Amino acid sequence: CGIVGYIGKKDTTKFILEGLRELEYRGYDSAGMALLNDEKIDVFKALGKLVNLEDKIKKATLGDYTLGIGHTRWATHGKPTELNAHPHLGEYSYVVHNGIIENYKEIKDELIEKGVKFISQTDTEVIVHLFENYNNKINDTAQAFKNTISRLKGAFSILLISKAAPNKIFFFKNGSPLIVARGKEEGEVMFASSDAPLIGLADDVVYLEDQVGGIASASSIEFLNDNYSWSRLPTSKQFAQK
Ligand code: GLU
Repeated sequence: CGIVGYIGKKDTTKFILEGLRELEYRGYDSAGMALLNDEKIDVFKALGKLVNLEDKIKKATLGDYTLGIGHTRWATHGKPTELNAHPHLGEYSYVVHNGIIENYKEIKDELIEKGVKFISQTDTEVIVHLFENYNNKINDTAQAFKNTISRLKGAFSILLISKAAPNKIFFFKNGSPLIVARGKEEGEVMFASSDAPLIGLADDVVYLEDQVGGIASASSIEFLNDNYSWSRLPTSKQFAQK
């Protein structure tokens, strides 16, 4: 239902929590976030209100994170449970997703055949396993993400992070809203499913078109589509053009 992502020097946990709070009015049954620094990914999930997630975070020993992704879920596939809350994990990657992967069953069966273990009942979980399955074979996260996207049918927006590319957020939008923005501070990139979490914090805000995705880091955004580059968007010296 709601998505927030952040790369930058602010308190990542706080940014995501406050962002999700801005999206609360849309309704949700559970919430979660994954936070990454070079060595590790921490994940928090809770059923019900955001205060439940906040309580869990408060009890944890928090690190200093380079980036993070967060989600409020409105269940479509699989009951509202903590296990089914996003982010969904593979062995070294996490994904948050809005919308529906229509062909998830076919992909799930194919991956189970290959020995992949699923722990949730969601359509979302196939994304992260598919990504890792490709990446394990070709050892190229950008290509693995492209291959993954090309398999997915339906309306969805996605943020994915991976220990295999620890400074990056992979993103894609098709039929479900996703915004990418440059923050006011140097090296900041922000994502949200509607503009509320970004107001006052971002300089350039771009509502992505359908079938547009890419890879963001503190220094650049690379778009996957050859016909779509950051140069078509408001430019900045901080952002390398493809
Ligand atoms: N289809 C996904 C699920 O049920 C995402 C739902 C949403 O957009 O929150 O987990």
